[in-house]
Amino acid sequence: MAEDDEEPPTSKLLSFDTDSSSKSPKPPNLTPKLILIVVTCVAAAIIIAFGFLFFSSSSSSSHQPDVVSRPLKKLKHPVVLLISSDGFRFGYQYKTDTPNMNKLITNGTEAQLGLIPVFPTLTFPNHYAIVTGLYPAYHGIVNNYFLDPDNTTGGEAFNMKSYDPKWWLGEPLWETVVNHGLKASTYFWPGSEVNKGGWTCPQFFCKVYNGSVPFEERVDTVLNYFDLPSDEIPSFMTLYFGEPDHHGHKVGPDDPRITQAVERVDGMIGKLIRGLEERGVFEDVNIIMLGDHGMVGTCDEKLIFLEDLAPWIEIPKDWIQSYSPLLSIRPPPSYSAKDIVTKMNEGLKSGKVQNGQYLKVYLKEELPDRLHYSASGRIPPIIGLIDEAFKVEQKSSKRKECGGSHGYDNAFFSMRSIFIGRGPKFARSRKVPSFENVQIYNLVTTILNIQGASNNGTISFPKTILLPNH
Ligand SMILES: [Zn+2]
Repeated sequence: MAEDDEEPPTSKLLSFDTDSSSKSPKPPNLTPKLILIVVTCVAAAIIIAFGFLFFSSSSSSSHQPDVVSRPLKKLKHPVVLLISSDGFRFGYQYKTDTPNMNKLITNGTEAQLGLIPVFPTLTFPNHYAIVTGLYPAYHGIVNNYFLDPDNTTGGEAFNMKSYDPKWWLGEPLWETVVNHGLKASTYFWPGSEVNKGGWTCPQFFCKVYNGSVPFEERVDTVLNYFDLPSDEIPSFMTLYFGEPDHHGHKVGPDDPRITQAVERVDGMIGKLIRGLEERGVFEDVNIIMLGDHGMVGTCDEKLIFLEDLAPWIEIPKDWIQSYSPLLSIRPPPSYSAKDIVTKMNEGLKSGKVQNGQYLKVYLKEELPDRLHYSASGRIPPIIGLIDEAFKVEQKSSKRKECGGSHGYDNAFFSMRSIFIGRGPKFARSRKVPSFENVQIYNLVTTILNIQGASNNGTISFPKTILLPNH
């Protein structure tokens, strides 16, 4: 092959398809520069072709958009597991690595800028709005504590341990579910201990609130329900964690201890996911993870004292039903609520009351309509809206405290919580606009294919969040 040795190396590379012994015409004499271009082009084409093949194969496996809901693999009926992480302010999920919540988010549907609570942005009014689809004026739990002047409740006081059904109006999801002959279970939820309609808070499926029960035990109990015979597995389950609300009140939303509380809740979601995976039902369960409200930092200098209004009007302590973050006042019937409102606002606007500009007082009928906070005798006649992070107290004291609070106007971003839906009825990797939590009731009844009670949610709303039936 002495001849070959004389050829330039590059043309030798191109001679592979040329039979030197054949009588076919000699290949054109390609210059080294042109050959280099050709080689580069071929290599680029190969890279593009492989890249296309790789991209198209990966998109067909995990990025194909969901068009219809996915069929159940193991469960015999749809199941909704509703999880509340109390006081999980929207944005907490970015404080630290939350791999388990991220697993729900990336494989599910998330309210991109959070879930909007109802007013007042307090625990009981919101949890009960979530399960009834009603605003507090209609579901009856207008505050965590209130007096009802109505004879039907004997003028008594409601508190967070009032289990008499006379307080709890509307039809909560567990009642709707059992009314349809399905099973429901509640591992804590405000109102779940109350006997209503067909719901009798059965011992095995209904836990009476006890904040000291470890989170792990709550998760294990819910997981054990999936070990029951298929027709015994509840169609609707609740699970409740009191964090990060507990620490939020103590240290405010920006303390490192909140980050730890968020990690703890994420760890519980991880334990739940692993347990569902071990049982082969993770893909079948519709998990809705949400919170009832957000949290904002409060501190000493942001205070408004009612005693400062004395030159305009005296507001005795026993007229006050709650000070903060919702000021509610029930004066004796002999007083004109309208006059009281006028005088209070005169004082607040005078510039002579410390932080007066951060409190606005209304007759409840004159509150902005968007708050839906007037159509109940349980709501006192006078309501004060307090600006974010401010607090109202009766009189000045030397008490110094900083922490966190919620209950303010639901228009404040800091009061928002989270919504994540993951399961056969939720599209994967989908973001939806924020919505009010009164829409959740219709979402759950739609997933379970049952007729819900009438409520303040929009009938067409579930179509905008859920996948249509397969
Ligand atoms: Zn709460």
